Amino acid sequence: MSTYFHQHVDGSPFDLPVGKAVCVGRNYVDHAKEMGNEVPDEPMLFMKPSGAFVKLSDDIVLPSFSKDVHHEVEMAVLIGSGLANATPEQVIESIVACAVAIDLTARDVQAAAKKKGHPWEKAKAFDGSCPLSAFVDVAAFASLADIDLALTVNGELRQQGNTRDMVFPTAELVAHASTYFSLVPGDVVLTGTPAGVGALVAGDVLLVELGSDHRFNTRVAKT
Ligand code: ZN
Repeated sequence: MSTYFHQHVDGSPFDLPVGKAVCVGRNYVDHAKEMGNEVPDEPMLFMKPSGAFVKLSDDIVLPSFSKDVHHEVEMAVLIGSGLANATPEQVIESIVACAVAIDLTARDVQAAAKKKGHPWEKAKAFDGSCPLSAFVDVAAFASLADIDLALTVNGELRQQGNTRDMVFPTAELVAHASTYFSLVPGDVVLTGTPAGVGALVAGDVLLVELGSDHRFNTRVAKT
């Protein structure tokens, strides 16, 4: 297991610290439906601390306290300049790069928390809960609102989506988040997952795709 830092696709580090992740639940209609949830009328936000980040290229280590850890493939954006009460235009200026994250979710722990009305942190924000790929310069994408996203597990396509299908598009989502949580350089925002979430098990081999040009491989550790 190597130390996490934000890196470019050529492996060189960004000159940015590792901050927090602000994340959104139910930001794709098809995923909200598969979980039996209503589509929210405002972004449903939660956070992961810096200790959640691990390199996607390292083996994914599933936590011992859960028997049902799900993959949620998501586009992640890297914040390059501070944002508080920001406008969508300021957000676009601030985003320096995009990556794919896997929002690892201990679904059994989350279900128990939901039942009790408890917060989700133990299910969503545990150490290593945010494997994150290298970042692709934002200039490589024509629009943040038209990026394909896919996750294949053991050769089977599990999740496929496009950022145009977000309920709250990236710029609006990050602007909204910044009214509650100031974002600082080195923070990351995860933008939600399309349908097809499911359990990961030891030894699974994953292919994660961002846009048409960027593919990342990883696997689940064999305990
Ligand atoms: Zn998620």
